[in-house]
Amino acid sequence: MAYVNEILAKVMERNPNEPEFHQAVKEVLESLEPVLKRHPEYVKYAVVERIVEPERQIIFRVPWVDDNGKVEVNRGFRFEFNSAIGPYKGGLRFHPSVNASIIKFLGFEQIFKNSLTGLPIGGGKGGSDFDPKGKSDAEVMRFCQSFMAELCRHIGPNTDVPAGDIGVGGREIGFMYGYYKRIKNAYEGVLTGKGLNWGGSLVRTEATGYGLVYFTEEMLKEKNVTFQGKNVVVSGSGNVAIYAAQKVAQLGGRVLAMSDSNGYIIDESGIDLETVKQLKEVERKRLKDYLTTHPSASFFEGCDGIWTIPCDIALPCATQNEIDELAAQTLVANGCIAVAEGANMPCTPAAVQVFQNQGVLFGPAKAANAGGVAVSALEMSQNSMRYTWSFEEVDAKLKEIMIEIYRKSSAAAQEYGLAGNLAAGANIAGFIKVADSMVAQGV
Ligand code: GLU
Repeated sequence: MAYVNEILAKVMERNPNEPEFHQAVKEVLESLEPVLKRHPEYVKYAVVERIVEPERQIIFRVPWVDDNGKVEVNRGFRFEFNSAIGPYKGGLRFHPSVNASIIKFLGFEQIFKNSLTGLPIGGGKGGSDFDPKGKSDAEVMRFCQSFMAELCRHIGPNTDVPAGDIGVGGREIGFMYGYYKRIKNAYEGVLTGKGLNWGGSLVRTEATGYGLVYFTEEMLKEKNVTFQGKNVVVSGSGNVAIYAAQKVAQLGGRVLAMSDSNGYIIDESGIDLETVKQLKEVERKRLKDYLTTHPSASFFEGCDGIWTIPCDIALPCATQNEIDELAAQTLVANGCIAVAEGANMPCTPAAVQVFQNQGVLFGPAKAANAGGVAVSALEMSQNSMRYTWSFEEVDAKLKEIMIEIYRKSSAAAQEYGLAGNLAAGANIAGFIKVADSMVAQGV
């Protein structure tokens, strides 16, 4: 459609050298073509032109002092993308690869993901090219405090509520929250993923991983199968991967392999998650050290090989573009029946095409990994009430939300003549709620 191509060309011109952002926009815009035909008001009110442009882009200097007294300078980002349905909401990523393109693609995806949760949260994302890996706790604390010294003036419980993402876990949220509180002299639920003693929600830690598996469970019903007895490969070994693997095991599946940035481990008897948790969450070590206590497991250098392991279900939970066309073809050739994205945009467009052409069930990130941000929104609700729900209550709400996201995505795909295409369905369902709100609120 010429209209969509025009907008895409403008996005590329306005945001040069931002391949991840272009990829994310192209994928969404292409699936919106049938929607724009049926809804001329979206064109009249330039909803698409507006939605691809962040409402606000904040880029700032983050100076800090390392343990040797050397002054380091990193770059901080917070892109407040869309507030049509609620305060900006989305994580902070601390990783050396972070740049404007990465934060923009993540912020853009967040708009639709947050809309799909059915909860009142807009889309935003932030982070820094700071690498917490190999830094002491004191260095991470000084960095987080400097980061928050600037970020605090842009966020607030009804304005913008950040959370974690790659490189930002409970430790970093704690340091940032503590500093925000000191500056503002206000005990506000301004970050989510807080510790349970100071306003956090039960299930937030598990939410993205558990939600991913609840979504996949629902999707698998299309083929009348369950996780029981299935071989599953989960890439990554961070928060999303660990709790996805835990839920898979609880449902009777066997997690054969997991990975980190150095390589992957295979344990045919099923990965021992307590060991992975101890290594990654407590000792902050490499996954390779799994072999010390599990000598019958094997370790392979590099990350790509993990997708050559034959499995029934693949859950990419590491990072963007980790499954390319070749990896997708290998998975299919080895009998994989379902892929659901725990990371954000882990499958390239060509890989998604392979899955769709070959009849592999495909759960897109915006839908499949929305459980994390959904429970973040539930954390905001509990903070507003000054109350806490039990683990069972939050878990039940999460499951209900994930099933509803699956239904909405599937129904939207059906309604627009794309039955079975959950990627398009998720984009459409997520978009319509935001687009209607933008139209209602005027230009
Ligand atoms: N970083 C997560 C995501 O990609 C969670 C965001 C949040 O909880 O606000 O959705």
